[in-house]
Amino acid sequence: DVALSIRGLRKAYASGTEALKAVDLDIAHGEIFALLGPNGAGKTTLISIVCGLVTATGGEVLVNGCHWRDQFKAARRQIGLVPQEMNIDVFEPVWNTVAFSRELFGLKRDDAYLEGVLKDLTLWDKRKAILKELSGGMKRRVMIAKALAHEPKILFLDEPTAGVDVELRKEMWAMVRKLKERGTTIILTTHYIEEAEEMADRVGVINKGELILVEEKAELMKKL
Ligand code: ADP
Ligand code: ADP
Repeated sequence: DVALSIRGLRKAYASGTEALKAVDLDIAHGEIFALLGPNGAGKTTLISIVCGLVTATGGEVLVNGCHWRDQFKAARRQIGLVPQEMNIDVFEPVWNTVAFSRELFGLKRDDAYLEGVLKDLTLWDKRKAILKELSGGMKRRVMIAKALAHEPKILFLDEPTAGVDVELRKEMWAMVRKLKERGTTIILTTHYIEEAEEMADRVGVINKGELILVEEKAELMKKL
């Protein structure tokens, strides 16, 4: 039962950089998968391709069985992305930010669903607050709520704790575990081994565009 299937995925940028070299990867429903690798390994490129932001130069991606090229909309609908950089308007209130993101996907209003998301992320009491007034950790959580607004099956978190202090990192880890309990499949990138260790069921190590190792976390930790 595969949530995401990646086959022979390649990306060569115009500059000539081979960011991905025939990557194969299957992600099961409901698992937390950590893509671990140093800067420049190809993590963001992989996520960007799967989320439809960058075009691959080879290979295929299937999301819940929907082929990326033939069923683009259906596949995209099942994916939520929390990018590294802020993608929220700091002058907007929390509720509007999240509700608008759902509208963009042309989905029916579902206040009960959004209420559940905001409560899971402990943002409910702040729903009327303007983002500018919120802490960095809360803003990150709003980005997650925004990514979940259209009820995706798979959530991508690109370096969710890059440049974040230890306390906030732990808070983020707790949030991700809570999302897993809701049944969301989660794929995150990180260059912190401890983060992969803390959160993931399975870890893939990527280096210079090649997936050099994919292991159950317990097995990987024995090797490191
Ligand atoms: P990571 O997310 O693991 O740090 P990236 O996917 O950002 O890695 O980058 C992989 C490689 O592709 C790096 O060598 C990087 O310099 C290169 N790269 C990334 N984006 C671009 C781009 N838009 N144009 C050219 N090269 C790029
Ligand atoms: P608008 O339609 O312009 O968002 P509303 O009167 O619906 O105006 O919303 C005012 C504020 O109340 C919003 O900024 C939002 O924070 C909050 N809000 C709106 N709808 C809901 C809702 N269903 N549940 C919780 N908070 C809501």
